[in-house]
Amino acid sequence: MVPTKPSAPAGWLPRLRPRSIAARLAWALGALVLMLLLALSQGAWQLRLVTELTRHFATGDMQRLLRVQTLSQQTEGAGSALVRLVHAPRADRVHEYAVVDERNRVLDGIIASLSEDLMDPTQEATLVRLVACRKQYAEAFINTVDQIEADDLPAAVRILNDQVNPALKAMLQESQTLLQRERQRVEAQLDNALDLLGRVVMWLTAVSVLAMALAVYVAWRTARSVVGPLLQLETVARTIAQGDYAHRMVSTGTREVDRVGDALNTMADAVAQREQQIVRLAYQDSLTGLPNRTALLTPLQPAPAGLNTLVLMDLARLKGINETLGYTTGDTLIKEMALRAESALAQAAQSGCIAPGYVLARLSGGTLAAAVQAPDRAAVAQLHALWERAMAPTVACSGHNVDVSLAYGCADTGAGQAAPSLVTLLRNAEVALHSAKRATGNFAWYSEAQEAARLGHLSLLSDLRQAVAQSQLQMWLQPKLSLSDGSPVGAEALVRWAHPERGMVSPADFVPFAEQTGYITLVTDWMLTEALRTLQTWQRSHPHMSIAVNLSTRDLQDPDFAHRLSRQVAASGVDPQRLRLEITESGLMEDPTHSVALLHALRAVGMPLSIDDFGTGYSSLAYLQKLPVSELKIDRSFVDGIDAAPATQRLVKAMIEMGHGLNLMVTAEGVETPAERDTLRQLGCDVMQGYLGSRPLHGDKLAAWLLSNT
Ligand code: C2E
Ligand code: MG
Ligand code: MG
Repeated sequence: MVPTKPSAPAGWLPRLRPRSIAARLAWALGALVLMLLLALSQGAWQLRLVTELTRHFATGDMQRLLRVQTLSQQTEGAGSALVRLVHAPRADRVHEYAVVDERNRVLDGIIASLSEDLMDPTQEATLVRLVACRKQYAEAFINTVDQIEADDLPAAVRILNDQVNPALKAMLQESQTLLQRERQRVEAQLDNALDLLGRVVMWLTAVSVLAMALAVYVAWRTARSVVGPLLQLETVARTIAQGDYAHRMVSTGTREVDRVGDALNTMADAVAQREQQIVRLAYQDSLTGLPNRTALLTPLQPAPAGLNTLVLMDLARLKGINETLGYTTGDTLIKEMALRAESALAQAAQSGCIAPGYVLARLSGGTLAAAVQAPDRAAVAQLHALWERAMAPTVACSGHNVDVSLAYGCADTGAGQAAPSLVTLLRNAEVALHSAKRATGNFAWYSEAQEAARLGHLSLLSDLRQAVAQSQLQMWLQPKLSLSDGSPVGAEALVRWAHPERGMVSPADFVPFAEQTGYITLVTDWMLTEALRTLQTWQRSHPHMSIAVNLSTRDLQDPDFAHRLSRQVAASGVDPQRLRLEITESGLMEDPTHSVALLHALRAVGMPLSIDDFGTGYSSLAYLQKLPVSELKIDRSFVDGIDAAPATQRLVKAMIEMGHGLNLMVTAEGVETPAERDTLRQLGCDVMQGYLGSRPLHGDKLAAWLLSNT
């Protein structure tokens, strides 16, 4: 990804292409070093000038000044030397001559050197006059010497006074003039030198200040060109950290920062993609692609307005299918169910039965939720019909034809009531689904009565533990009669609860909830103890009668159950053959693999086993073959009105034949009329249980019944 190029900033340097931080630093350092070199070279040059000037001053001007000073002194000295020569005794004359000669020689030397390097042209006239005076002095000196040699002292003194001294005086005057001029010149030179030195100092100061200013400016620019883009980077990184992935790092004109910016942009894209994926995973069911529970209840985008009905659809016996046919089959079934549910919804929306905006979500396992806007409950009934039609064809998976049967729980906004939240609708639909699973039609609307019942059940449950402890439970027995001769073969133990406030509570009102919470194991244990106690009393009076106790799936989950029961049976001294155990077919199918193992363990103890409510749990023949059971109890829904339903007769006949084929005793439940009994007998059924034989009995009524029927 290429960062977008911003418009050129209105800086003093047009930015042609991104420059690197290294280039900027090199440029800045280079400029600084250059400035420093310039200042140094300038300083050195100026110092060289000053040195030159000083040297010139020391070797030229000062020496000349000294020579002129010496000239004055020697001129003065020459006069006194001559006086000494004139008055010197003859013997000392040679020495005095030498002194005077030396002085004259020095004078001549100085005058010669001065005429050679005299700088100032104005001094030339003075020098010419000096030379002339020297000449006069030389002549006067020779005259004086002549008189001395002639030993004419007075003449010598006279010449000395008249010629030599005036000449010397004139020389002295001229040399004084020269000296003064030289002094002025030296002073002027010194002033010049000081001026120059001042200028040098000023120049050096100026160059240093300039270099410093430039250094500060370059450092500031470099820092700004590095720090600015870095700050921009920091801002972008913080914005990305806050979740704004659309924010982009634009080109800063600094190559290294642009590279980091590029990486940051790429990272933001990758993070955005990954976040989208995470959100998708968090909100979407991976198997069906439908929204999940989170998406239904807390959608990212607002849900369609006006949703007033929530329908929960639950795929029956999914656990059994997963365990017997494999999880792939279960998954295929769920996917197919989702597809069919969706197409039926689309069809309903198209036909105007529901509003076009709806949500279909998968909540868990085989449970889907459809949130729709329906004008009334009739529309939901139509939708239900569409779903049922869509689910009717069996699904072919892994070589099996599996049928998709659903239970529906519906909840809606009551007429004239404020719309409840989806969470409330969902909770209500769950309550409705629960009662739908127990109802015959597999379809139920939520009602407040259900809720009240549910709450009632909950409060009942809290009393249940006490009920067991305080013996509020009762064991009622419903006889089972042989269909061939009408003799009693045994009885089924059915629990009743003599609630101190509610009166007699039927198991339908607390067994399902006790199963959910696990309290049912208390009931089972109590019933088993009670059944064994009754069997003990029957050992003499009714030695062939058995008692069947209902087990719950919760009991099957207890790994120690078989062992505990075997000890209990042994302790009672009752023949295990007399204690029958009933397990519902649907209960078995909840956990088929585990159930098989447990049934074998129970069978090993010696108790015969029955499959209760057979025909409602969709077990396969292959599965039944694996079970160590000895009785099949056909559910009473097949028995109800069987005498007038040939199709049911065929079905029940098949069940009976299958049972016999597996060597099982077949019992029909819920036989209420003689016609039903006769039909069942004709179909080959072995045993009947139902109100026709007897209602469940307890206490005196049971004793009386036993007395008259055995
Ligand atoms: P179930 O095991 O299938 O028991 C048969 C049920 O059918 C009993 O209902 C019985 O009263 C009823 N019944 C018998 N003959 C007829 C008839 O001719 N017509 C009609 N309409 N009904 C008939 P009950 O006693 O209400 O029990 C309901 C269910 O509660 C039982 O069904 C069983 O699944 C469960 N249950 C009862 N007692 C216990 C128990 O001690 N432990 C466990 N785990 N479940 C129990
Ligand atoms: Mg039963
Ligand atoms: Mg039953």
